[in-house]
Amino acid sequence: MFDIKNYTEAYTLPEALEALRADEDAIVVCGGTDVLIRMREGKDAGKSLVSVRNIPELQGVRRLKNGDIEIGAAQTFRRLTADPVIRKYIPMLGEAVDTVGGPQTRAAGTIGGNICNGATSADSAATLLTLNAQVILAGEGGTRAVPIGEFYTGPGSTVRERTEVCTGFRIKRSDYDGFAGHYTKYGKRSAMEIATLGCAVRVKLSADKASFKEVRLAYAVAAPTPVRCPKAEAVLKNRRIDDDAAAQQFALTALTEVNPRSSWRASREFRMQLIRELALRTLKEAVEKARV
Ligand SMILES: Cc1cc2nc3c(=O)[nH]c(=O)nc-3n(C[C@H](O)[C@H](O)[C@H](O)COP(=O)(O)OP(=O)(O)OC[C@H]3O[C@@H](n4cnc5c(N)ncnc54)[C@H](O)[C@@H]3O)c2cc1C
Repeated sequence: MFDIKNYTEAYTLPEALEALRADEDAIVVCGGTDVLIRMREGKDAGKSLVSVRNIPELQGVRRLKNGDIEIGAAQTFRRLTADPVIRKYIPMLGEAVDTVGGPQTRAAGTIGGNICNGATSADSAATLLTLNAQVILAGEGGTRAVPIGEFYTGPGSTVRERTEVCTGFRIKRSDYDGFAGHYTKYGKRSAMEIATLGCAVRVKLSADKASFKEVRLAYAVAAPTPVRCPKAEAVLKNRRIDDDAAAQQFALTALTEVNPRSSWRASREFRMQLIRELALRTLKEAVEKARV
């Protein structure tokens, strides 16, 4: 049994916002794969739950006329991976969330919950950082769009107010068009495993595919929050894709932009080694995909 004060199944956004406003113990729940575990552990025991998973605005993936892509917050990982728009334009995101947990977790867990829980280990976060995604938050005062790079404030905390609902994510066409990318998740086993480290690289190559026009690099579990590495990215701008010294410099520079911790999963030192190694390996995979 779960210690739940009250449960509201919201079918519209105003209904959800009103339920959150009216009860200061109320928190949002979507797939419940984090919330219900926290409740059972006692951390959120006695709270009221406002479910947002049946609100139409939070569903689906849309490609707008201008080419921008909107992803509903209640999109489960399984649906995201299978979605035709994601498969065609941002397959890396579908592949990244396909590494989450096992089939049951991917069928229930959502991308909105993955970002709003504030975890540095979230498997969608590094990819969304390399896509410059905007987090769309709806509250009593209206809607605001927060760049994902400004969304996290610390381990498990974000700029989202308790009474705000994340309706989804917006990715500009200029942030995915012409890019290819790869996400590497390092864990002790390949399923039912939270990342020891996650690395996302997106690349845009020159017309002759011989050099980098742009490179984007982000990590999960390399700092208290998911983190982007702009200094490392700058190293590879306009450099040849076969310039091994530049690639090594890219990976070494990434080490200056991270701050991993030691945990029972891995020591800080091992994570630093992974950060360097995965930058190189993930870059190589991203280049392979971009050259196809
Ligand atoms: C067995 C197991 C394995 C797992 N493996 C992984 C893994 O490999 N990788 C990984 O990244 N995660 C993993 N997780 C964690 C979890 O599945 C994900 O973080 C998932 O994305 C959470 O989504 P949810 O919809 O279930 O969120 P919920 O549990 O419903 O909510 C999570 C948090 O986000 C908030 N929230 C949810 N939706 C919204 C919204 N629309 N607006 C505002 N706030 C919202 C809630 O208030 C809560 O704070 C695992 C969990 C389990 C139980």
